Amino acid sequence: MHDHQHPHSALTPEQLQQQLADAGLRATRQRLLILGSLLVLPGHPTAEQVHQRVTEQLSSVSLGTVYKALDSFVAAGLTRRVASAEGSRRRYDADCTEHHHLVCADTQEIIDYCDPQLDDLIRNFFAAKGLPGFQPHSFSLHVTGNRVADSSAAGPAKQTT
Ligand SMILES: [Zn+2]
Repeated sequence: MHDHQHPHSALTPEQLQQQLADAGLRATRQRLLILGSLLVLPGHPTAEQVHQRVTEQLSSVSLGTVYKALDSFVAAGLTRRVASAEGSRRRYDADCTEHHHLVCADTQEIIDYCDPQLDDLIRNFFAAKGLPGFQPHSFSLHVTGNRVADSSAAGPAKQTT
């Protein structure tokens, strides 16, 4: 057990139970396993990846059960669904803090991107312009591009068509 908690580090069963309870969900054994698996998987796993991890511990859990549990986590605000590129599988994000996503068009890898300066920019933009008939709560940018070698100049990784 560690004193420091990171969003993607393994939680104790008690902590998982508490998360479910806080979200108003009954802490069944399956839900505990599914939430625990989601939290330790790196990045933004698909339901299939979560399912595979869960079945390593409890082989009787079906993919449908995993989908249903993940949906209930999303509805309860424990998990977010990542808006991903068309045609790709649903991806889940256990990190519910505000952040943006860089999506690699080649590999479908989703990279978390945080920048308070960018958040301020967006917030100030909408504060100045206003959104008629709409009150924004949060922002999440979805930037599509391609990974480029780090050694090259750190320019924008935009793909021109
Ligand atoms: Zn994310």
